Amino acid sequence: MSKCYDLNIDEVNQLLGKLSDKYIIYAPKRVFNGGRYALDDTVIYGEISKFEDIEFDKRTIFSIKEVLTPLSQTLFYFTEDEFKEAKIRDSRDILILGRACDLNSIKIQDQIFKENGGIEDYFYSRLRDKTYFVLMECNNQYDGCFCCSLGTNTTDIHDVGISFREDGAYVELENSFFHEYLTGFKPSSYEIQFPKENKLVVDYPHIDNEEEYNQLKIHPMWDEYEKRCIACGKCTVVCNTCTCFTTTDIYYNDNCNVGERRRTCSSCMLESFDKVAGGENFRKTTKDRYRFKILHKVYAHDARFHTGPMCVGCGLCDSDCPQLISYSATLEKINLALKEIRLEAKKEETDNA
Ligand code: SF4
Ligand code: SF4
Repeated sequence: MSKCYDLNIDEVNQLLGKLSDKYIIYAPKRVFNGGRYALDDTVIYGEISKFEDIEFDKRTIFSIKEVLTPLSQTLFYFTEDEFKEAKIRDSRDILILGRACDLNSIKIQDQIFKENGGIEDYFYSRLRDKTYFVLMECNNQYDGCFCCSLGTNTTDIHDVGISFREDGAYVELENSFFHEYLTGFKPSSYEIQFPKENKLVVDYPHIDNEEEYNQLKIHPMWDEYEKRCIACGKCTVVCNTCTCFTTTDIYYNDNCNVGERRRTCSSCMLESFDKVAGGENFRKTTKDRYRFKILHKVYAHDARFHTGPMCVGCGLCDSDCPQLISYSATLEKINLALKEIRLEAKKEETDNA
């Protein structure tokens, strides 16, 4: 049975103060004048230490993944003879406050970085293994989000739930993990709620077999994206579940055998990312790359892990595309294309009978 407490702003700050001794805490945070245009603010996951730092009403523009896989990070330094692992910036454990869709995306990040091909990514795991989660109650409906269509509106990855309000917060313990931090605060009968419906309802496509997948790959539905998409990669950089990165060795000027290896967030939407050794590029056009991105989410991820789509319905991709290309609209187009493909297959079957 979960226990809930009712805290005013001072008490939330006391709690965050106590937690900060052991944890570096990340939550949605407003960056003043950090938006697309000069005087626009933005909201990202950032380090917080007090109630006033937390932007609990607005959705972030960038994803929760940046806490565990920063946009750019040095992995190690090397000389002619040896290498030295780059230190973790802060030795404390990590506590992340996020909404259900964001927290569910961590499970997909785990699949890619910890389970893919049976190889565990050391640099991901060294942060992930000391990370704990707090569920932020999501009361708002954001344009383009559709977690309820995917079942990512609920989660079990968190130890604590929190519902912020203008004058404080309800804090609900899911287990005994944070019990010691809440002793002495006023109990409450409040129950943290998961979102029950979204304005946007998406019928997430299901591709039945490889034959359908191959037919969909050559369907003319992808043609329009050749002109519309400018292949900027923004939708993948902000995406909660995309994980593409590139590694670069930076050599120091004084000695070209000394330097550091960096991992930088990248995107399958970029032409340079898709080039292989020798200069060949198997996804030459923008529509090839867009199709690859979408079908990876709709089909290929599930074909490998059997855990459903590589998407949590957060809608971040839709809200940030400079060309107003909508992922959920693309999904609807896939449904129409699949209908055609299935009708055609049935017709062929009847003709051959
Ligand atoms: S879909 Fe939009 S955000 Fe994504 S690469 Fe194309 S133009 Fe950029
Ligand atoms: S594809 Fe779009 S909706 Fe799905 S997880 Fe990525 S950003 Fe969110």
